[in-house]
Amino acid sequence: MCPVSQDALPPDPFAGDPHDPSRGLDETSEVDELEPLTAEERAEIVEDLEDLAVYQALLESRGIRGVVVDCADCGEQHFHEWDLLRASLCQLLDEGQMRRHEPAFNPDPSDYVTWEYCRGYADAILNTT
Ligand SMILES: [Zn+2]
Repeated sequence: MCPVSQDALPPDPFAGDPHDPSRGLDETSEVDELEPLTAEERAEIVEDLEDLAVYQALLESRGIRGVVVDCADCGEQHFHEWDLLRASLCQLLDEGQMRRHEPAFNPDPSDYVTWEYCRGYADAILNTT
């Protein structure tokens, strides 16, 4: 279902099992409140994954390790390495939700750029004639 490698994700023993016994154990879980992604939302995520691959190809060789995102949920900045961001997007696509916010592992902010920066950079590179 996911268009890119999920090597960065740990194996899920219940992947694809509709009778996943881990579901429903926690009644306060937000899983119960999830709406399925709309076709439009899925298309946007797939688009983001495609953009991400382009941005990584362009910027990783320049020493950029990933993308920094201003999180609307907790109001903090999250630093995502390329592969982790890809894994998160794949998970969103597959399960309709992101994994919990994990604390950054002592990231150097200068190693990360915003999604907007990536977009502008890619535009500048790819539209150069
Ligand atoms: Zn957050």
